[in-house]
Amino acid sequence: MENYLENTDVAEIREVLDHSNNIIITTHTNPDGDAIGASLAMFLYLKKRGFNVRVIIPDTFPEFLAWLPGAREIMIFEQFSEQCIEFIRQSDLIICLDFNNLKRLNQLGDEIRRSDSVKVLIDHHLNPAVEFRYKISFSKISSTSELIYDFICESGYKDLLDREIADCLYTGIVTDTGSFSYACNYVKTYLITAELFRLGIDGEHIHRLVYDTYSESRLRLLGYAVSEGLHVLPEFHAAYIVLTLDDLKRFNYQVGDTEGVVNYALSIKDINLAALFMEREDNVKVSFRSKGNFSVDRLAREHFGGGGHSNASGANCDTNVNETVNRFLALLPGFWDELRHVYND
Ligand code: 5GP
Ligand code: MN
Repeated sequence: MENYLENTDVAEIREVLDHSNNIIITTHTNPDGDAIGASLAMFLYLKKRGFNVRVIIPDTFPEFLAWLPGAREIMIFEQFSEQCIEFIRQSDLIICLDFNNLKRLNQLGDEIRRSDSVKVLIDHHLNPAVEFRYKISFSKISSTSELIYDFICESGYKDLLDREIADCLYTGIVTDTGSFSYACNYVKTYLITAELFRLGIDGEHIHRLVYDTYSESRLRLLGYAVSEGLHVLPEFHAAYIVLTLDDLKRFNYQVGDTEGVVNYALSIKDINLAALFMEREDNVKVSFRSKGNFSVDRLAREHFGGGGHSNASGANCDTNVNETVNRFLALLPGFWDELRHVYND
């Protein structure tokens, strides 16, 4: 297998890990399957090696990930900030997974920034910040979970991989590739996946646990988003969905319920840019998706203060929902030519 870890700080991270006692693993707000899968895989691996380790995340995670091994041990900063701050104070190493900037952790990010612990980043987003001592940052890979698999093997602990760790890693890979439908052109992803099956995972069962556990209201929210919330702008090869607080209340919104909704806007033929605007109490959560070489990381970074990957990015905006949508609409004429000529390289 190709070694993606060359030119990263893998050796330094191994070394600092060997000399650590109290380790914190953390990931980004609004965590997805890769964020939680990679964190729990690392957690289970480090526990097996005998470290005192905790997973602390900024806010709650979706119910469809609650079955993952170790999920019940995750500490949520929003709910237990005092205890979390104490654990951060006692830690000597903080492993940051699946994000590229501590800003993505809100208040928890502030606490981590203040901490003297060694900060390590393992991530696959573009443009990692400089605030981490050591990094494994590689954006041409499906998921952080894939990097964790490599990291464990490269550290000489392949024999510690087991079914539970494999469940977590597979969930991360499946969710970050939309069940192998994007970011999925790398042979390595399938070689790693094959190894995970060798460890005994049940792919069909995991698929049902992650994707076939909708509540009725979640499915109706999706139906509403697609039939009422969707706006299509064929001239700009763009489509967007708006969900207001009232819409979300009407469908009894729970964390994770809008996961994947934006992809439906992108599934329309000749639509190359899709957006989801979700109104929240004090901000608007924006998700961008694109096809081919149109970079929504750049769009999110340059115009909405966010970021992510070339074909999947996001932002949190302080402007109200109308202003945020209007900012997006005002940008489209400038991208007209680019959006007409999207190609897949
Ligand atoms: P999603 O739309 O699924 O929430 O996020 C898509 C991608 O964009 C993910 O890789 C996520 O990490 C990134 N992303 C989402 N929101 C933000 C944000 O507010 N800031 C930055 N920098 N990245 C984000
Ligand atoms: Mn990821």
